[in-house]
Amino acid sequence: MAGEPDVAVIGGGPAGLMAAEILGGEGLAVALYDRMPTVGRKLLMAGRGGLNLTHGEPLARMLDRYGAARETLRPMLEAFDNAAVRAWAEGLGQPVFTGSSGRVFPRALKASPLLRAWLARLAERGVAIHTRHDWQGFGADGSLRFRLADGSEVLARPKATVLALGGASWPRLGADGGWVEPLRAVGIDVRDLVPANPGIDIAWSPGFVERFAGRPLKTVEVELDGDRQRGDLVLTAYGLEGGAIYTLGPAIRDVLARDGKATLNLDLRPDGDTESIAARLAKAFGKGRSRANALRALGLAPQAVAILREVPGGLPAEPLALAALLKAVPLEVTAQRSLARAISTAGGVAFDGLDKRLMLRDRPGVFVAGEMLDWEAPTGGYLLQACLATGHWAARGVSAFLAAQDNA
Ligand SMILES: Cc1cc2nc3c(=O)[nH]c(=O)nc-3n(C[C@H](O)[C@H](O)[C@H](O)COP(=O)(O)OP(=O)(O)OC[C@H]3O[C@@H](n4cnc5c(N)ncnc54)[C@H](O)[C@@H]3O)c2cc1C
Repeated sequence: MAGEPDVAVIGGGPAGLMAAEILGGEGLAVALYDRMPTVGRKLLMAGRGGLNLTHGEPLARMLDRYGAARETLRPMLEAFDNAAVRAWAEGLGQPVFTGSSGRVFPRALKASPLLRAWLARLAERGVAIHTRHDWQGFGADGSLRFRLADGSEVLARPKATVLALGGASWPRLGADGGWVEPLRAVGIDVRDLVPANPGIDIAWSPGFVERFAGRPLKTVEVELDGDRQRGDLVLTAYGLEGGAIYTLGPAIRDVLARDGKATLNLDLRPDGDTESIAARLAKAFGKGRSRANALRALGLAPQAVAILREVPGGLPAEPLALAALLKAVPLEVTAQRSLARAISTAGGVAFDGLDKRLMLRDRPGVFVAGEMLDWEAPTGGYLLQACLATGHWAARGVSAFLAAQDNA
C-alpha cells in the first residue's frame, strides 16, 4: 500500500463514500478501504427498488422518523437535509423526482449511474480506493489492521479515520457486523445489533402460500396497539413484507419480546367504514351473490379474499360480521425476520461514546458514520438520508480535528 493517507475511510457504502467525497474535496489524501471486490453493493441493491434517496417532507417531520436519535441527528440532518441530497444527486447528473408518497427517487430509478458518477468524482478528488481490504480492528499502537485476500495483513496509520462499516443485514453485500467485536475489545460501547425494517412470519396455510406468495395487497392498513400504518404489502411464503410492517417494526419487536406473539389487525378497506361496507355486502347477498363474489364486488383482490379465509372460523355469513372482519383481519405474527434478511440494522455504536462531531471519545481521530451508529428509521428514504448526512458530518468533524492538530 502506498504511503500513509491523511484520512482512512473504511467502508465504501453511502456513508463512507460521502465522507471520502468531502475530505477529498478539501485536498486531503484520502484512502477508502472496503473488504469487497467493489464498493457500494448495498446501494446497488437499494437501486433495485428504485433507489429511494430521501423523503420530501419538512425537516421537523422527517426528524420524527429517527425516534430516540432525533435530537442527536438533528444538526447532521440540518447540515445535509433532503434538499441537499437532491442537489447532490442532481450534481452527479441524476435528476430526481418526488413520488406521490413524498419519496424522492432518481429519474433513472436505479443506483448504477449515480454510483458511477460518484466514483468518477472521487477519482477526480484523488481518493484512492483499496478493495479486498478487510478491517480487523486496531493494532496495539492504534494502527488500522487489514487482512488481504491472500491472508496477509497490512497496517495503515492515517492522521484520522472514518469508520463507515454499515449494519449487519444482507451480509453477502459486505456489511456483516464483524466490526462489533474489535470495537468492543477496545472498550467502545456498541449496542446489540437487531433487525430494523424486517418482514414478519405468519403461518399461512400451504394452499394459500402456493397460490398467493409474491402477490401484493394494495393500499391496506395494519394496526398494532392503536398505531395504524397504511401502505402496500407483499405476501410471502413466510408472511408479509412492506413499508407499513417495517414502520410498526419496533412495536412488533416489543410485543413479541413481551408476549412471544403479536396480533396485527389488517384493514383491507381502510377508506370504507364498517357500516357502509356491511350495507353493500347485504345488498349483494340480497341479489343471491356468494360471500366470495360479494367481496370481489367490493373490489377485493383474490388474495385479499383468501386472507379472510385464513382466519380460524372462516368467512362469517352475516354482513356486519363479515365487514368487521374485513376491517380488522387478525394476523398472528410469530416472529420477525432475522437480521440477515432485514432491510436495515438497529443498535450499533452508542452516541454516548461519541462527541458532537461523531468522534469516539476514547479514540481521538476515529469517527463513525452511517448505519453502524445506534439509530434506526423506517423505509421511505430515511436510511440513505441519514447515512449521507452522518458521512458528511463525520467528514466535517475530521477536517476540524486535523485543522486543530495543525494549529496545536
Ligand atoms: C434490499 C435493500 C433495499 C434498500 N433500499 C433502500 C432505499 O430505497 N432507500 C434507503 O434509504 N435505504 C435503503 N436501504 C438501506 C440502505 O441501503 C443502507 O441503510 C445503506 O446502504 C447503509 O449505508 P452505510 O454506508 O452505512 O453501509 P453499507 O452500505 O452497508 O456499506 C458498508 C460498507 O462497509 C464494508 N465493510 C463492512 N465491514 C468491513 C470490514 N471489516 N472491512 C472493510 N470493509 C468493510 C462493506 O463491504 C460495505 O461496502 C436498503 C437496504 C436493503 C438491504
